[in-house]
Amino acid sequence: MVRHESTAPLLANEDPRDSFDEDERELLKQEERSQIRRDRRRMCLCLGLAAVLASAAAITTTYLITRGSPLAAGRSRNVIMMVSDGFGPASQTYGRSFWHFKTNDTEGVSLSSLDKILVGASRTRSSDSLVTDSAAGATAFSCAKKSYNAAIAVDPNGIPCGTVLEAAKQLNMLTGLVVTSRVTHATPAAFSAHVVHRDMEADIAVQQMGDYPLGRQVDLMLGGGRCFFLPNTTEGSCRPDGRDLIKESSDYEWKHVLDYPQYQELLKQNKQILPLPAMGLFHPSHMNFEIDRKKDKEPSLSEMTDVALRSLKARATDENQGFFLMIEGSRIDMGAHNNDPVAHVHEILEYHKTIQKVREFVADNPDTVMISTSDHETGGFTLGLQPDPNTYPDYLWRPEVIDRATTSTEILTADLITYHAQNRGLSATQKFVRKEILGQGLGISDATEEEISFLSNPDAIANDILRFLGHAISRRANLGWTTMGHTGVDVNLYAETAKEVDRSVLDGLRGNHENTEIGEFISWYLGLDLESITSRLSKSSTEWFKSKNAFSALDHTHSLHEETGH
Ligand SMILES: [Zn+2]
Repeated sequence: MVRHESTAPLLANEDPRDSFDEDERELLKQEERSQIRRDRRRMCLCLGLAAVLASAAAITTTYLITRGSPLAAGRSRNVIMMVSDGFGPASQTYGRSFWHFKTNDTEGVSLSSLDKILVGASRTRSSDSLVTDSAAGATAFSCAKKSYNAAIAVDPNGIPCGTVLEAAKQLNMLTGLVVTSRVTHATPAAFSAHVVHRDMEADIAVQQMGDYPLGRQVDLMLGGGRCFFLPNTTEGSCRPDGRDLIKESSDYEWKHVLDYPQYQELLKQNKQILPLPAMGLFHPSHMNFEIDRKKDKEPSLSEMTDVALRSLKARATDENQGFFLMIEGSRIDMGAHNNDPVAHVHEILEYHKTIQKVREFVADNPDTVMISTSDHETGGFTLGLQPDPNTYPDYLWRPEVIDRATTSTEILTADLITYHAQNRGLSATQKFVRKEILGQGLGISDATEEEISFLSNPDAIANDILRFLGHAISRRANLGWTTMGHTGVDVNLYAETAKEVDRSVLDGLRGNHENTEIGEFISWYLGLDLESITSRLSKSSTEWFKSKNAFSALDHTHSLHEETGH
């Protein structure tokens, strides 16, 4: 096994202006201000060009990259990139409207934490399809390049491309990933690893640890996915080999690799700040949906975000560094894949809560930009449904139907499959379906005989049950789904920064953009050099990104939808 040394930062962190006198500093400030104005003018011109190119049906838009950040050199800057996976515009309407119901806002006038910072929309297609998957979607954000579905930070030819996280590390910034999926899943992987297919999660874990040409690039990683860090001699491992990454991680500077009790203990000992680098892996696979989460077993997305922001800020302030943090509401997507409006909405509300926390951080921390967008829409989800083509549809919205449910359809499906396996007989099964699955689980008290009959059939397969349950509650709430996969619609783009002087910085995000332009924007704001990372990666002679461990065994018991692209 070849180990690669961590690469020393290429740029010094010190502010070179410290050695200048007052007049020189003033001159430099003036020059910086005119540089900012020049950069902004260039941005506007390039945005105009982007519109022309878009109208000419160009797939790849080249806008706004003029090397160099709009901020003074030597000042620390932070970018918080938030990804609401599989969250389309209808899901935002849905989350907001459900919140109105929960807060007795009968007129429905209050705005969510996202509505207040809407700046535009993102077009989501990948290099090979109008409908992207999360791997190509995240690669557009991380490498600012379109690639094929399933690509993890590699270009359409399968060649590794430098990511904004790696380029931030090259500038000696701190880096973090906070997700509710496995940390090896497509979105976090595309910022911190390079493989030709998203299913190579065993290899992704190895690279995230630091065993690849650039060495360790991530300082903080919180989420699920412990199974890919455990050797295949351990129960619950997803690795095809015997590598124990938890043990090996100390060779790559990781000070702490933690399960939830260890994480809580370390926070308690350190005034709620994690000493870095630290990795918290709170579930063998994806973390539980928010509606199913046991508070004493797993942290929520907003809790992890709190800890990440505090920990990165503490260390960044000490060392005059900025940070790049990617936060993903990963399972918004999975709720929609399951056509489960209950899991979906509780993931959305937790994402809104997380956005609120990040906005408060941004308000208190100048020179920080937060961007929130989705890689794609999932489910073809909408508000409004016509069950019978011969009857004009009722224009209804029944949030109380959703509010009565207590459990995700993922858990209920697993419970029902387990029950069927026990062969308790038809009558007992029908009672279980009526009382536990539909009644207690989904809050449905008017189940039809057809519904009881379908669900009591021991031959029913998991995906059919999952979809049936999701549609049973969606129909009653008047919600519609067109697919258990993704769709190609544009998604909303949100952004915020603190200081008035910085707000025009966000002009580069206003309007309708290709998803790659979000990666370009981050690069521009932080003054990153993605090409130099791509070049460093290309210098390594081996084809380390093409995998020894392709298509590793996945834990199919936890999530029922592992097989297809998320
Ligand atoms: Zn998905």
